[in-house]
Amino acid sequence: MRLANKIAIVSGAASGMGAATARVFAREGAKVLVADVLEAEGKAVVAGIEAAGGTARFQHLDVTEEEQWEAAVGAAVAAWGRLDVLVNNAGISGSATNDLYDTGLWDRLMAVNGRGVFLGTKYAVAAMRQAGGGSIINLSSISGVVGQERIHCGYNASKAAVRLLTKAVATQEGAAKIRCNSVHPGLMPPMRTSGATADPVFRAKMLGHVPLARSGEVDEVANAILFLASDEASYITGAELHVDGGYLAC
Ligand code: NAD
Repeated sequence: MRLANKIAIVSGAASGMGAATARVFAREGAKVLVADVLEAEGKAVVAGIEAAGGTARFQHLDVTEEEQWEAAVGAAVAAWGRLDVLVNNAGISGSATNDLYDTGLWDRLMAVNGRGVFLGTKYAVAAMRQAGGGSIINLSSISGVVGQERIHCGYNASKAAVRLLTKAVATQEGAAKIRCNSVHPGLMPPMRTSGATADPVFRAKMLGHVPLARSGEVDEVANAILFLASDEASYITGAELHVDGGYLAC
């Protein structure tokens, strides 16, 4: 198994790519803290993992709250002894409103997609130093590299912040054997908070720019995260992995 004996936290693991990642991690031998604000959905993910013979626990986590991150990392270490992997996956969409200059949405995007990743990294790094190393995988997006129509610029800005936060942490924590990489999904199943990006017209237009000519599947992102979490990626840090069917290549 590719993550045998690893201890992992996945934020935003109640839904979408986070849930897929938690399942793939558990299948590959990791013990997984399923962390989310959505309790019922998160507990259902845990139940599914346990039914398949894996090990997981649910942790209530609002990624914008510092004390909740401290508690989540503490819970993983208390339950299983250390922390090896953090997936900063929780996020909200920038397409929920047609007002592309909504100030409140800018603040919320920065809080969840930006501050949330910073706080998770802060507490994970402290635990991983104790463990002698680790792997952090941050969910950015194609929107962290290029702009798009109908998406609030705060989404792009927050995802670009994640892209460079990743490289800064990789630079600063290499000596502590902590790797840090970003994953950039492209056209995927819509987020729970999607507006325009769930619109078939928007999706059809985007699809025209995808060389593989189809939308991605959540497991295709989970498998990329799995690789970066595993020791197979032992010499990879500060990298950005585009899981976008070629969108950013053209
Ligand atoms: P999703 O909406 O299905 O899942 C996001 C999860 O994050 C949900 O379970 C939600 O409850 C959780 N979450 C939101 N705010 C939170 C908070 N404050 N604290 C804790 N959890 C919180 O979305 P998804 O498609 O699975 O997206 C996962 C990640 O991938 C996000 O960071 C997203 O920005 C990124 N992404 C998504 C797409 C896409 O098109 N779906 C494309 C590129 C990147």
